[in-house]
Amino acid sequence: MSTVVNPDLTASGNVAGRFGAYGGRYVPETLVAALDELEHAYAEAQADPEFHARLDALLTDYAGRPTPLYFAERLTEKLGGARIYLKREDLLHTGAHKINNCIGQGLLAQRMGKQRIIAETGAGQHGVATATVCALLGLECVVYMGEEDMRRQELNVYRMRLLGAEVRGVTSGSRTLKDAINEAMRDWVTNVRTTHYLLGSVLGAHPYPMMVRDFHRVISKEARRQILEKENRLPTAVIACVGGGSNAIGAFYEFIPDKDVRLIGVEAGGSGERLGTHAARFRGGAPGVLQGTYSYVLQDDDGQVALTHSVSAGLDYASIGPEHAALHDSGRAEYTAASDEQALEATVTLARTEGILPALESAHAVAECIRLAPTLGRHDILMVNLSGRGDKDMGILARELKLKGA
Ligand SMILES: *Cc1c(COP(=O)(O)O)cnc(C)c1O
Repeated sequence: MSTVVNPDLTASGNVAGRFGAYGGRYVPETLVAALDELEHAYAEAQADPEFHARLDALLTDYAGRPTPLYFAERLTEKLGGARIYLKREDLLHTGAHKINNCIGQGLLAQRMGKQRIIAETGAGQHGVATATVCALLGLECVVYMGEEDMRRQELNVYRMRLLGAEVRGVTSGSRTLKDAINEAMRDWVTNVRTTHYLLGSVLGAHPYPMMVRDFHRVISKEARRQILEKENRLPTAVIACVGGGSNAIGAFYEFIPDKDVRLIGVEAGGSGERLGTHAARFRGGAPGVLQGTYSYVLQDDDGQVALTHSVSAGLDYASIGPEHAALHDSGRAEYTAASDEQALEATVTLARTEGILPALESAHAVAECIRLAPTLGRHDILMVNLSGRGDKDMGILARELKLKGA
């Protein structure tokens, strides 16, 4: 387990890329030049209309943007309170929001002349999105994955290989995500000249949290315009699940200046309150450094990273993006948690009222919506970011719901 260090003791910590006290860049000296190069290339790309034209064209014609903002009429009626809208990121190519970021970083890697992409993946969803974009752009792709995760996510391993990616099993430590991250970092240090590290959420050292957020901002850009078209007013609240926090920050971002719009992030409440049984960083986590950034981390009294649990692999991580840590401390966003049980129930409810099978991650946001909607009135609007579709979770659902007559 990596030790959480006090950032005041880290020499390279005092750099740009801060969200309040959080964020920064806590990496070995060997990676500082690569992160600087990435930061500059990204700034140039941001200012280049041609880059945006290519990105927009692929988001539209390849990924399927804009995604619909759907009025969930039967769910609204059933809950008897606020009007509920679903932002349908589940309808994107590969079935989740992750493709927004992968296309953006893939184009950036090409622009930087880097022909080799590395990534790490736990559940395999980010690995599949990365392998997809590498195939699309003709880039070499290596995905690191713990062998335990490979066993649990066999189908995604096969998908990645079918798409032409090399999946490298990691046998160190607990053979899960954090071990895969360590291996990917080692690869990057060695091959940094030819290789781009395609990070999958608003985590890691600067500029990743800012850059990944920007690639997902399109979610709230569209949603804000769409809700004004449909309702001629802004939502009461925007609700999104929070793993690393990329779909949530994408869904929140353009609403941050709209002070009357509540922003609600939903973490994985798992199976209990005890450390090790959940992944709710704002329920027992404390500030610390993990994998290059300073944010809330679930850790024990000795500062060792705690084990986490969630029925949804995509939310099962000990840290959270640094911008969420800042939004939490400032009070601009609220964070709550939904349990495994509530997420499973929400999946069944959404399936049976709307004919939509959400990803188990997204079902955490739906669960919060189900809790909140009846406490609000008919004039209120709840917008739920449906980050992904549930096809990938059928095995888990079949197992978990067997005894409940579902
Ligand atoms: C990966 C994933 C998440 C969690 O990642 P964030 O960075 O927190 O968005 C949420 N939903 C789905 C469908 C995912 O695949």
